[in-house]
Amino acid sequence: MAATPDTPAATTRRKAGRHRGEGQWAKGHFTPLNGNEQFKKDDDGLNVRTRIETIYSKAGFDSIDPNDLRGRMRWWGLYTQRKPGIDGGKTAILEPEELDDKYFMLRVRIDGGRLTTEQLRVIGEISQEFARGTADITDRQNVQYHWIRIEDVPEIWQRLEAVGLSTTEACGDTPRVILGSPVAGIAENEIIDGTPVIDEIQRRIIGNPAFSNLPRKFKSAVSGSPLLDVAHEINDISFVGVEHPEHGPGFDVWVGGGLSTNPKLGVRLGAWVSRDEAADVYEGVISIFRDYGYRRLRTRARLKFLVADWGPERFRQVLEDEYLKRKLTDGPAPAQPDQQWRDHVGVHKQNDGRFYVGFAPRVGRVDGATLTKIAELAAAHGSGRLRTTAEQKMIVLDIDEAQVESLVSGLEALDLRVKPSPFRRGTMACTGIEFCKLAIVETKGRGSSLIDELERRLPGFDEPVTININGCPNACARIQVADIGLKGQLVLDADGNQVEGYQVHLGGALGLEAGFGRKVRGLKVTADELPDYVERVLRNFQEQRTDGERFAQ
Ligand code: SF4
Repeated sequence: MAATPDTPAATTRRKAGRHRGEGQWAKGHFTPLNGNEQFKKDDDGLNVRTRIETIYSKAGFDSIDPNDLRGRMRWWGLYTQRKPGIDGGKTAILEPEELDDKYFMLRVRIDGGRLTTEQLRVIGEISQEFARGTADITDRQNVQYHWIRIEDVPEIWQRLEAVGLSTTEACGDTPRVILGSPVAGIAENEIIDGTPVIDEIQRRIIGNPAFSNLPRKFKSAVSGSPLLDVAHEINDISFVGVEHPEHGPGFDVWVGGGLSTNPKLGVRLGAWVSRDEAADVYEGVISIFRDYGYRRLRTRARLKFLVADWGPERFRQVLEDEYLKRKLTDGPAPAQPDQQWRDHVGVHKQNDGRFYVGFAPRVGRVDGATLTKIAELAAAHGSGRLRTTAEQKMIVLDIDEAQVESLVSGLEALDLRVKPSPFRRGTMACTGIEFCKLAIVETKGRGSSLIDELERRLPGFDEPVTININGCPNACARIQVADIGLKGQLVLDADGNQVEGYQVHLGGALGLEAGFGRKVRGLKVTADELPDYVERVLRNFQEQRTDGERFAQ
């Protein structure tokens, strides 16, 4: 009898058929199965730099090859930005070229979030000279400019590279910025300093043509902080500091996390790796992704789909047998952090007796002039180092106790709060409709005014709470793992008019209790209703919580 679609035999055949056509290089599928794979095969994305320097920056925007413009330029951190004035209702209707402005977003990668005061000063100067003053701190520790002209790109690269910064593989189907604990090497409670791991991965992998054509982006994170401060659950690969009972401090390896559509939390391989082994394991995992990753459909091309299909045991076995050629050591899971905020905001003692000072801009939005002032302020207080965090915050390191109060006053005078309200501290927003071609609604401005409203309406609220705002169904601001996640879309107001608004997700979290927020069926709020809605949710929580209950519970 022929199998019906629901019999096990049919399911097996369907799965087999799907995997035959996933475009994995390891199975000999080298023929490109979509436009992205084709342009990557035609020319490595890294090669576009020469054309930018020798042709496009001289001949101007209109000279740019379309496959470079909407494809390979990402390998150097460049995306065209949204033409001003196009409303969110047109996002899905217009062709990409109709949404394109003749200006770019340029992303500067800041691996491990590490900056010197000199680097920050240069970032601020470039912003003021070439980017109309724009500079956002992202939740991946990068800085993003807007309004960049192609003519200025070579000069910007030259200035960034002169101080050791780059935009290499900041976007595209590449190994993106490596997140690192913002307090690596200085925290009193650090389990292990992951800085040498980040440096070694950068040296071996970033800008290496052997890893510049991946099925999609590859996100990574390294932290030896017990606060689990790099969102390790939602990266393609993460190294999380743990103490092995026999071998001492090292890293627990996680793979296959990622948000956006079909969000998945990373899974543990159950393997402990030493600091010296970590870069080998990173190279093995990114090689598996390159060779076995699915290249047929862009929507199934992230590592999380391969990990979900294989499971952690098989993934580890392939890593050991085919790539490392040796077995890994079994190891423990990380412990539950003893606090909920993982952003390092506030004044904290370092392991050398000095202090670090973490502060909160509004939803990651700063500007070039402010960044320059932060660099000057840090230098004037004896610091040569700063860090960006994975929560859109910043930290000044190496401050003597006698200088702390003055630095805090200087930062607060710039509206950079060292003692922020929970709303300032816990609200993140993606780029949104101001510059993003995929956006449906505004985010940054709305996040900022929401903070003001909540501070005014709920002055006594002191619970950690995260409010993450996205401008579209993607997950750049991690809405699925926020206490209150707001996914931008068009909604109907009370009069039946289509207006900007949000689908609400409640109760997501990162940390060892990580999970995705519940999409509250039918619960959509208009942008105008947003402060009333969030106030109501927070007041209800305050009134109904039991002792020790967290918002996410
Ligand atoms: Fe753009 Fe959507 Fe990402 Fe926001 S979440 S930056 S709107 S793609």
